[in-house]
Amino acid sequence: MYDILIIGAGVIGCAVAQRLSRYAGRFAVLDRAHDVSEGASKANSGIVHAGYDAKAGTEKARLNVKGARMMRRYCQELGVPYGQPGALVLGFQEGDQKTLQGLYDNALVNGVEGCRLIEREEILALEPHVNPQVLLALLVPESGLVSPYELTHALADAAKENGVDFLLGEAALALQHHEDHWEVTTSQGKRRARAIINCAGAQAGELHNQISTRKVRIVHRRGQYYLLDRSQPLLFNRTLFQVPTHMGKGVLVTPTTHGNLLLGPTAEDIDDGLDTATTRDGLKDVLDKVKLTYPDVNLRQVITTFSGIRAHEVGGDFIIGEVEGAPAGAYEAIGIESPGLTAAPAIGEELGDWVAYYLKLGKNLRFIPPTPLPKAFNAMNASERRAAYRDDPDYGRIVCRCEQVTEAEVRRAIRRGVGATSLDGVKRRTRAGMGRCQGGFCSTRVMEILAEELGQDLQDMTKLGGHSQVLTGSIERGGTA
Ligand SMILES: Cc1cc2nc3c(=O)[nH]c(=O)nc-3n(C[C@H](O)[C@H](O)[C@H](O)COP(=O)(O)OP(=O)(O)OC[C@H]3O[C@@H](n4cnc5c(N)ncnc54)[C@H](O)[C@@H]3O)c2cc1C
Repeated sequence: MYDILIIGAGVIGCAVAQRLSRYAGRFAVLDRAHDVSEGASKANSGIVHAGYDAKAGTEKARLNVKGARMMRRYCQELGVPYGQPGALVLGFQEGDQKTLQGLYDNALVNGVEGCRLIEREEILALEPHVNPQVLLALLVPESGLVSPYELTHALADAAKENGVDFLLGEAALALQHHEDHWEVTTSQGKRRARAIINCAGAQAGELHNQISTRKVRIVHRRGQYYLLDRSQPLLFNRTLFQVPTHMGKGVLVTPTTHGNLLLGPTAEDIDDGLDTATTRDGLKDVLDKVKLTYPDVNLRQVITTFSGIRAHEVGGDFIIGEVEGAPAGAYEAIGIESPGLTAAPAIGEELGDWVAYYLKLGKNLRFIPPTPLPKAFNAMNASERRAAYRDDPDYGRIVCRCEQVTEAEVRRAIRRGVGATSLDGVKRRTRAGMGRCQGGFCSTRVMEILAEELGQDLQDMTKLGGHSQVLTGSIERGGTA
């Protein structure tokens, strides 16, 4: 019997879990995927939105601004890449002036500081590679960047360090209330907890509707992206938005925390909330729109494309707290579309404290603060590299050439709190496989290290857990690989 079972190991579930680990109790996070951060939290723009566009007076606006203010310190404590380069919302037509003025006014109401409307000359002085046809822009200095999956992994590790269980590869199927606890039927059996928290992202509506008298409808809104090689010098310093539409924030051009350029996303409503395919039409749409901001975009620099699914609740706001009309002990954070990543520190803190209060949990007197990850080898200077090698000779072997990731870092990624068990797991924890060759060079070596560390057969190594084995057999043994 757990005190609290969290369903969903995205950035929201992990932020709640990390907060709860400050309290004494038995907690677990359950996820259908074989690793944490396999939903929207791994595939988004990574922007720490300042909060200029969230509709004033909503939970979205409040938690956006609060989360953005918490994010720098949160990332510092967890050792997660964060930057605050600011943003420009670009207007290319006379009619955009009214929209930008409206965003400026909204920013003031939401308490976002430092915004200014600026004209072409100043825009081009700040960002010389922007389309010179730009007319005006909203400058948003408080806009930031974060590595979304690294944040989620760091939160999971910090929670695990304080005793939170991670039950991965296990889907919640049905929720049933008994006298003093909830029973969750999962793909592996039954789990029981005094309270449950539904943080299941795009699939959260199905679980909610099983137990609530207020039905919700979550629309699956897919966003497709291009990611550009970081070996090219970055032409833009800030995040460049276009004026938003009724479907969201529109297509952006942005640096990432690691110095790539990201282009996208689309906003397409689709039926299947797990369909993270990229499509020819979707990517063409991104490219057509990006050209308005960045006419010289060069597709030869594209190293990969990907997509993520937003969980858009038709009411338009975040739904956070007790599940309406459900028996006691059921909580949720659903409809957490953008700016959910930004709001995660605030949602984690508020929802975690709320449920702990309900269960009258005391403090965890043995709470261990997060241990920030050591600096990545590719960010070290020569003397730091020598020192790292002296401490651990595995720093002397480069596994991923593109991103300069060492064997020491790959092994640490597997040994971490909620450690990597697949190629993608190592990739998102170390960047091995994220560079120009997209794992062409390092995948075999990463799989060998994984097999060795996990004590498993090389042929059992997977791309992302489950049945995603990479090898089909051994040539030496007469197989078909
Ligand atoms: C294209 C796109 C761009 C975005 N850009 C930004 C941005 O720039 N800035 C920003 O602040 N926000 C952004 N967001 C929003 C942000 O990514 C999300 O708000 C955030 O990641 C939501 O986190 P989550 O934990 O609620 O959901 P998820 O990360 O989707 O996690 C939900 C988890 O629940 C699991 N799950 C589902 N069903 C079950 C089940 N039945 N049993 C067990 N587990 C289950 C899933 O496997 C998944 O791991 C963007 C989103 C998208 C899609």
